[in-house]
Amino acid sequence: MPEGDTVWNTARVLHRALAGATLTGSDFRVPQMAATDLTGWTVRESASRGKHLLLRLAAPEGRSDTRHWTLHSHLRMDGAWRAYTPGERWTARPAHLIRAVLRGTGAVAVGYHLHELALVPTAEEDSLVGHLGPDLLGPDWDPAEAVRRLAAHPEATIGEALLDQCNLAGVGNLYKCEVLFLRGVSPWTPVGAVPDLAGTVALAQRLLAANRGRWTQSTTGSLHRGGTSYVYSRRAQPCRRCGTAIRKEELGERVTYWCPVCQPPPDPSLP
Ligand SMILES: [Zn+2]
Repeated sequence: MPEGDTVWNTARVLHRALAGATLTGSDFRVPQMAATDLTGWTVRESASRGKHLLLRLAAPEGRSDTRHWTLHSHLRMDGAWRAYTPGERWTARPAHLIRAVLRGTGAVAVGYHLHELALVPTAEEDSLVGHLGPDLLGPDWDPAEAVRRLAAHPEATIGEALLDQCNLAGVGNLYKCEVLFLRGVSPWTPVGAVPDLAGTVALAQRLLAANRGRWTQSTTGSLHRGGTSYVYSRRAQPCRRCGTAIRKEELGERVTYWCPVCQPPPDPSLP
């Protein structure tokens, strides 16, 4: 599941494959960029902001009044970028899912099922990511600001508030469920009733940071199949702490997993 750590890892893959390279070709298979050709452009760096990928480019000298541009993409639930060596077969996903191809001299980056592909002046990146809250894996991570933004809507459920990228950027459904289990907080608890928001935010950051640099996401410390989470994707399986069957229900637009004993409801009328 692409969450902040996955996007951070993806940005690093793209950076290693293309940073410093002058592109020898490009191919965009989305209508709004079908005419875009980045041949001769230089890749400056690749960065992530929450779940957004920002590939920063320099246009060839004299080609454009604006020199620095950013190729933006969002992975949502199913997107991915992969780097291949030139001549290697592109086997990660079916070819019909390819949305972008960037050819460097030493590597080819292929973007599958990308969303929100856009080329914008780097100076205008904020038009795409300026609404985001502090980035849990960003160099400017600001936990106090994340707590402030969460606390500004005390009536929202903590389960939905942690997913709102305007509060803090990078938590997806997996980390949301796991953080709340580890804190013993029901996902239905109003933000205003969460005992220690700062501790919750700090734990979310630690869990994401611990998974940087690897593709298996684990919150338990185990990398074994079936052992990587406490509650996420474990419906009806026994809680690793108390043995109670893990529950799964819709909360807002997403499903949530929780242990009804370890995470008691804030109000008896709630799940
Ligand atoms: Zn339990």
